[in-house]
Order: sequence, then structure tokens, then C-alpha cells
Amino acid sequence: MKTLMIDMDDVITDNQFATFVEEFLNKKIDFTPANFKYKQDAIKGKEEEFKNIYEHKNLYEKAPLLDGCFETLQKLNQTYDIYIVTSYIWGKNIIDPAENLKNKFNYLKEKLPFINPEKYIFIQNKKQIHFDIKIDDRLSGLENADTKILFSAWHNQSIKDSELKEKNIIRANNWYDIEKLLLNNE
Ligand SMILES: [Mg+2]
Repeated sequence: MKTLMIDMDDVITDNQFATFVEEFLNKKIDFTPANFKYKQDAIKGKEEEFKNIYEHKNLYEKAPLLDGCFETLQKLNQTYDIYIVTSYIWGKNIIDPAENLKNKFNYLKEKLPFINPEKYIFIQNKKQIHFDIKIDDRLSGLENADTKILFSAWHNQSIKDSELKEKNIIRANNWYDIEKLLLNNE
């Protein structure tokens, strides 16, 4: 059975961080890579103020699974050894890491009950662990894998096909693409 790493944020679910930021700044934010590399760049210089309000809020309380995630993971779970690998420490601790870890754990357990919590890995640097296949929305999260799948997200749209090809990375636009890539090997 091949080992398969699935990232959580922007792959399994869009957490509510962008909503918190817009609420905090009281305006709509254009989260495109031209403006920001990470969503928290939008609050640069105001981290302490943000932390005072949002440190203990749950980023996953109202976060739905991305389309097709549940069904595809359920199918993949029959033929792959799935691990959910996710970081939980935010820069400058603007979200309390211990609570964030607990919130992530509870979210995964509730939303994806067929994946054993023993298969959750909470880690900052994903490249320290090798998997046969990795699915992540950041290139850095894909290192140390035989098959690398970049999951499309707001910040990676502009990465060119030629660059991905050079790095031996396949793009998946959504969970239906993942299903085609990993289950219908024609
Ligand atoms: Mg991610």
C-alpha cells in the first residue's frame, strides 16, 4: 500500500482566517499572490492587536470540507495508506497553537471519521517525512515525495506548467482531479 500525505489547510478545507482578517480590517481583501504570499501578510504590523481578539478563536468552527474531499478520501482510503499532515503554529502565535492543534484534531475526527486519528501528523516542516505521494498547496510541502501533486489554491495559480513540469509536479485543480489522478489509472 502506497503512503499518501494529505495537507489540511487549503486542501481539505479553507479555514476561516481570511474571514477573521477581513472582519478585523473591516474591509474586503484581495488575497492574490500579487498582494500577499501568506494571508497573514495582510495584517503585517498589527499582529499583536489581531492576536488580542483572535488568538482563541476556532479557525475551523464554520469551515466546510472542500467539494469532493469527503467522497474522494473515502475512496482513496481503500487503496492508499493515508496520513493527514498539517502544521498548526502560526507566525508570532497570532492563533494559540495548542488550541489550534486541538481544533484541527476535532475537525478532522468529526469531518473525516473513516481516517484513524493515529494517522494525523502535526508538524511544521513536512519535508522531514517521506511519503510515496504528497498533496499540498505549497511547493515546499511537496518535497521528499516520489509523486508530487500541487493542489490549486489562491496563491499558486500563477505557477507555470513549465515550472511544475521541471520540478516533476502535477497540478490538481480540485478533488475530482485527484480522484482521476490516483484512482482511474488509465
Ligand atoms: Mg496548505
